[in-house]
Amino acid sequence: MRNRPTPRAVVAAATAAIAIGALTACGDDASGAAPDKLNVVAAFYPLQFVAEKVGGDAVHVNNLAKPGAEPHDLELNASQVAQIVDAKVVLYLKGFQPAVDEAVEQQGGDRAFDVSTAVPLLGPSAGHSHEGEEHEEESGGKDPHVWLDPTRLATIGEKVAERLGQADPDHAADYTARAAALRSDLDTLDKEYAAGLKTCERREIVTSHAAFGYLADRYDLEQIGITGLTPEDEPSPRRLADVAAEAREHKATTIFFETLVSPKVAETIASEVGAKTAVLDPIEGLQPDSSDDYFSVMRKNLAVLEPALGCTA
Ligand SMILES: [Zn+2]
Repeated sequence: MRNRPTPRAVVAAATAAIAIGALTACGDDASGAAPDKLNVVAAFYPLQFVAEKVGGDAVHVNNLAKPGAEPHDLELNASQVAQIVDAKVVLYLKGFQPAVDEAVEQQGGDRAFDVSTAVPLLGPSAGHSHEGEEHEEESGGKDPHVWLDPTRLATIGEKVAERLGQADPDHAADYTARAAALRSDLDTLDKEYAAGLKTCERREIVTSHAAFGYLADRYDLEQIGITGLTPEDEPSPRRLADVAAEAREHKATTIFFETLVSPKVAETIASEVGAKTAVLDPIEGLQPDSSDDYFSVMRKNLAVLEPALGCTA
């Protein structure tokens, strides 16, 4: 009898439990989604960017790749798999992140949208090749880095709008309108690139991994990737020597490295050929606590490319 709680205490405890339950429902379930928003999972940053631009305040987007982590080799934990299970739309790029491909195959069903179906992917050897040289033969797959061409990303935005509209017909017109606005902003960026890279002393870019095939394709550059399509590929001494020779041949002043992987290999080649290093960001993910977005990083990349290639506006 002594331990029976008073009615007042029971009400207080119940109220507290309801409050905790409410908090949990808002912010702490696997998806983190608000109940009135369309719950979207994006497999890495550029897809998060597109989903948020196109979805606006009608969607809640979870990015599976954590800021500051290189997304190619993403491993999924149980709560990330739960996010995929809970999502109404899952945006991924087949062939880019094997762990995501596997989870989507098992859990994604028809909620998953492979954005590579929106734009034809280039082969790995698109970009630089000299007769008699071996390039990228270690990777037989397609080049996934399609977001580095703003016009292709705009097409992905329109397809994402269709998918969001199918999952959430009430907002379909809004998604379509926002995708058109995104297309317009990406076209502006595209024109800046075309103008900035129109007249240059050099068109070869030596990059740490071969992430810039679509940028090269769109703006008539020649990519010389030190490693292949994934950053983990270790370049052989032979490959390093070849790249150094090409860098010299093309009078490269700058060897590019990227934000999420070690600059060591780029620095080795730069010191060998007497070039500088600079960041050219493949926008596979943002740095933690970054205030950047796709547009600001693309414009930083252009500002680095113009002087490195000796371009005159
Ligand atoms: Zn990459």
